[in-house]
Amino acid sequence: MIMRSSLLILLLCLWLPAQAQWQSDSWDSMGTRATLEFWHQGNHGEDITEAVRQEFNRIEQQLSPWIEDSELARFNQLPVGQKFSPSDEFRFLLERSSLYSTTSNGAFDITFAGAGRLYNYRTAVAPDDAALQQAVIGMQHIQLHEDGSISKDHPSVQIDLGGIAKGYAIDRAVAILQAHDIDNAYLSLGGDSYVLGQRDGRLWQVGIRHPRDSQAVAITLPLTDIAISTSGDYERFFVRDGEHIHHILNPRTGKPAGDVMSVTVLTGRGIDADALSTTIFVMGIKKGLALANRLADVSAIIIDLNGKVYYSDDLTGQ
Ligand code: ADP
Ligand code: MG
Repeated sequence: MIMRSSLLILLLCLWLPAQAQWQSDSWDSMGTRATLEFWHQGNHGEDITEAVRQEFNRIEQQLSPWIEDSELARFNQLPVGQKFSPSDEFRFLLERSSLYSTTSNGAFDITFAGAGRLYNYRTAVAPDDAALQQAVIGMQHIQLHEDGSISKDHPSVQIDLGGIAKGYAIDRAVAILQAHDIDNAYLSLGGDSYVLGQRDGRLWQVGIRHPRDSQAVAITLPLTDIAISTSGDYERFFVRDGEHIHHILNPRTGKPAGDVMSVTVLTGRGIDADALSTTIFVMGIKKGLALANRLADVSAIIIDLNGKVYYSDDLTGQ
């Protein structure tokens, strides 16, 4: 009898569907912190997280300027006039970057790296004016050819996809989650994130951090199915003679950009949110808000140097 009832319990356990649960993980990736939380049924949670982790690693291996044989590093070392056959992904990122460069009249420019590589935020090194004048910056130095190949016309021209790659990685991760039938998730990679579906039947509550207090939230937004990217002058910086020297550079001067402390952009895709938050940061309050208002389905929230908050028209109901 005892045998029979335990057999029955065992059968019942096998019969019942696997319990649904939140799976949460956090790890270091792409030079920042990755966080992934999703609601799922069954016991493949670890595998899904692992797939996202591997995808981030793959993208880092391909796009890091610090990994000597990354595709990006190989392009940076390319001799003038030589044609380079990029992967579809690399070309896509270059085309998208080129588009944002045009849209922003050069505020977003991946060749900012000509100046960017002269800074070291960890050791508090910034180039002097003479060094910045020598820096070669401008998308006109990169040629995207009809046959799919790319080349450069100056030996010093270098690129860095730090203003767009994390958003792209977010999109790839969302695609992985959706392929695994995940409907509710939160994903973040540094200042870039995405919210899918809901959290326990309610909208996700996404906080924009206070630019001068990493523990404080400045604004909380109820959101669903949207990418959120914040570019802040607090991510990588040092202070010299009272000057806040940070990592978002004005490609025209090679110096830290802006009259703002942070810019948050909300839009459908991570790649666009990421590029646009950097772009609007460089453009500043007036031109930046005008750009957000001009683009469909793009919202922006800007916090200026005094802590004053500006919203794009769609958020103020105008
Ligand atoms: P993060 O999450 O690293 O703060 P952001 O989206 O704020 O990312 O972008 C900052 C990064 O963008 C910098 O670290 C640099 O790699 C890159 N970047 C800086 N200035 C520009 C620029 N004017 N155009 C394109 N990319 C830039
Ligand atoms: Mg960005």
